[in-house]
Amino acid sequence: MFTKKTIILAWCLTVIIVLVTCKSPVASTSEETQSPDKEIEHAGKLKVLATTSIVSNVVSLVGGEEIETTTLLPLGSDPHGFEPTPQDMTKILDADVIFANGAGLEEFLDNLIESAGAQNKVVYVSRGIELRRLESQPSQEGTTYIEDDDQVGGDPHTWVDPNNVMIWIHNIRDTLSELDPQDAEYYQVNSEKYESSLKELDTWIREQVAHVPEANRKIVSDHNLLGYFADQYGFEQVGAVIPSYSTLAEPSASELAELEDAVKELGVKAVFVGNTVNPSLATRVAEDTGTNLVFIYSGSLTEPGGDAGSYIDYMRYNVQTIVEALN
Ligand SMILES: [Zn+2]
Repeated sequence: MFTKKTIILAWCLTVIIVLVTCKSPVASTSEETQSPDKEIEHAGKLKVLATTSIVSNVVSLVGGEEIETTTLLPLGSDPHGFEPTPQDMTKILDADVIFANGAGLEEFLDNLIESAGAQNKVVYVSRGIELRRLESQPSQEGTTYIEDDDQVGGDPHTWVDPNNVMIWIHNIRDTLSELDPQDAEYYQVNSEKYESSLKELDTWIREQVAHVPEANRKIVSDHNLLGYFADQYGFEQVGAVIPSYSTLAEPSASELAELEDAVKELGVKAVFVGNTVNPSLATRVAEDTGTNLVFIYSGSLTEPGGDAGSYIDYMRYNVQTIVEALN
């Protein structure tokens, strides 16, 4: 027995020594030494799960080739009303880290994360952004900034202002660097590059919106989607077909009537409807008031190469559409 053990031990040591020392091109041509190397390389990439396609696009630009990104929500699905499947649970379990928009956007997420016991994996990219709140939800001192435990109650559509997405970038960069310190410099370079593209986008938006006459800068959308955009670029979100930050709420008959009165009185030029909601109510408001119904992108990107294949394309499409509709 002793001899057998010794032989096995000696054999193991030899294999280890061969694997550790044989890094020469000659040795790496053999299949035995090539495949473990590949596995190590593969395992070295962080497995990242992002909730929406918008979060996913930003995460993959910061993480670049050092991460493997999976997107939880299919293109075109409504992040407020998404219903996860059992396969989504597997994605949660497989991920090293999960990036979510946060601020209450992904109403399905808490249950899913809790069932998976994956609370420690979740990072809310909107963390640190001062949330807008509806007048019926007055902000209390100390609660206007999102914390991990205070994600609900404000406007979750932080990405409609690229200045907020710059905060996302910092949160993503810091998280990836913490999990993979070896590549921290790479993440830093990527985030700086992307941040400067977003600064260019911000400048471009200011040039575009300058063409909209002051009196026309009134936004009505299917739900309260464009608040951060309105605040940043000098518009007023005068109302929404669903007077809520979520598409899951339903307007009362009197709320709809009030909105239609406001649209007529204020001379609102367009009703904007997003790609991830049912357009029927917005269509009705537009018809009742004789206003144009105008399509924009809301909770999801399109396929790469489409009108909104990336976050920057999404913003460019929406801004161009809003400027044309309100001119
Ligand atoms: Zn929304």
